[in-house]
Amino acid sequence: MRGVVWLRRDLRLQDQPALTAACAECDEVLLLFVFDEPLLRSRQFGSSCVTFMVSCLVELADTLAERGLSLQWRRGDQLEEVLRFVKTVKAEVVYWNRDYEPAAIQRDQQVQQALMTRGVAVHTFKDHVVFEAEEIRGATGNPLQRYSAYRARWWAKWQAASPPLLPSPLRQRYRRAGTVSPRVVLPTVEELGYQTVPLWIKPGEKEARRRLRWFLNGPIHRYVEGRNLPAIDGTSKLSPQFRFGTLSARTAVHAALGTLATDGVVSRRDVLTWIDELIWREFFQQVLSAFPQVASSPFRIKNGLPQPRRAGAKWNRLYTAWCEGRTGYPLVDAGMRQLNETGWMHNRVRMVVASFLIKDLRIDWQSGERYFMQQLVDGDLAANNGNWQWASATGTDSMPGYRVFNPLLQSRKFDPEGAYIRQYARELAAVPADRIHAPHLMTQDEQALAGCRIGRDYPAPIVDHQQARDEYLALGRHLVTR
Ligand SMILES: Cc1cc2nc3c(=O)[nH]c(=O)nc-3n(C[C@H](O)[C@H](O)[C@H](O)COP(=O)(O)OP(=O)(O)OC[C@H]3O[C@@H](n4cnc5c(N)ncnc54)[C@H](O)[C@@H]3O)c2cc1C
Repeated sequence: MRGVVWLRRDLRLQDQPALTAACAECDEVLLLFVFDEPLLRSRQFGSSCVTFMVSCLVELADTLAERGLSLQWRRGDQLEEVLRFVKTVKAEVVYWNRDYEPAAIQRDQQVQQALMTRGVAVHTFKDHVVFEAEEIRGATGNPLQRYSAYRARWWAKWQAASPPLLPSPLRQRYRRAGTVSPRVVLPTVEELGYQTVPLWIKPGEKEARRRLRWFLNGPIHRYVEGRNLPAIDGTSKLSPQFRFGTLSARTAVHAALGTLATDGVVSRRDVLTWIDELIWREFFQQVLSAFPQVASSPFRIKNGLPQPRRAGAKWNRLYTAWCEGRTGYPLVDAGMRQLNETGWMHNRVRMVVASFLIKDLRIDWQSGERYFMQQLVDGDLAANNGNWQWASATGTDSMPGYRVFNPLLQSRKFDPEGAYIRQYARELAAVPADRIHAPHLMTQDEQALAGCRIGRDYPAPIVDHQQARDEYLALGRHLVTR
């Protein structure tokens, strides 16, 4: 029997349910990836994300070639291309791992229906998450809206039946082939209509596994504290790998728990806190899956939340300053510049810049969500939307509407020496630590000494935080303040 594995956000060979099933059931397995032309044209994603994806595919194609296999690729409409390919190669069965984005669910239903009417069997698998939305429900069978309740059930489920890992089916199956298949020439990032950007996080399955090992051998054991310090390499930086499925969440959870078996250096609290972040990832996947309307609208319209600022010249000026990292708040600016330069931003800083956009600048959260998607290397609808709705107090489980991050206090607390700020807001490089969080407070002499004139080299604050916060809370009529 000839089978096709349709790859999407599962660009790996290890612990790959669709591939494993195809190899077990078929005499011949073909792997297909379709570059989604309408999605590429939509510009929802940016060059970082596309560069990362292409690089993952190049690595995968090379690994397959070493085993005498080639990665087939097509470009166009996913439905049409999959049907055409299946017909051309006369496949009898198609395998894929499920995706939970509303548009992907609709597309997959169409593909499945069309294949089945042509007599082609379809087998789909859970892969992108450890537990799918339907597996974790509240007592009444409804989807859970609170992270803490979801987390408790997630752990109970893991303890009852942790899903096993699958070895790469290609290792045994194709070692005998002994032939090297010609390298597949994939389209370049430019051919796809984007620009190749230098990648700051190395892509691909091998690198994802290497980074996981490195992280589990060191930073995870200081994670509770380290995860909040943007100046250090204290988090896994695996988010783009999870996004494109070069590493499965199952593998990560098993490996992290595996460190608890070793003596000494391992801190249970740190390891479990890291796994909690993976559970946040699954929580937002289940929110999107259970409430697909969140993709385009707030989960809840809360009475009393201040209306965002109306479009106009002031909106444009404030939004542009935020995007460019020129707000006069060094932590916000360093974060936005890190995003623009590298396609990634530290989580603590993501929270600060999101709060600043929504509450200090009173710009609608969806503009921030869109900008993040276009810049992030790990841009993922569920995680991005979930976190923006969290920050704007419109989500299932949100930060309280009255809580406004103070960018100065956050900066002093989490980047006390200003090392992170100096890395990205380079005009502040010579500003001393006691001035770096609020450089506009420097005297003329201090500015001269630091080689940084406020208003010329670095902007004065575009809004006054205290005033903006008070206005926001005053506009939010029913927000309880503390
Ligand atoms: C406004 C905003 C937008 C965000 N947009 C995205 C996005 O588009 N894609 C994305 O993957 N993450 C997003 N996040 C979540 C988080 O910032 C990143 O997942 C994290 O910074 C990635 O770094 P890491 O891999 O080193 O994380 P680690 O600290 O090592 O955590 C491990 C993994 O857990 C997951 N994770 C961690 N924190 C969160 C979280 N808050 N929500 C969901 N999953 C989480 C990620 O998959 C991450 O790789 C966003 C957060 C905010 C506040």
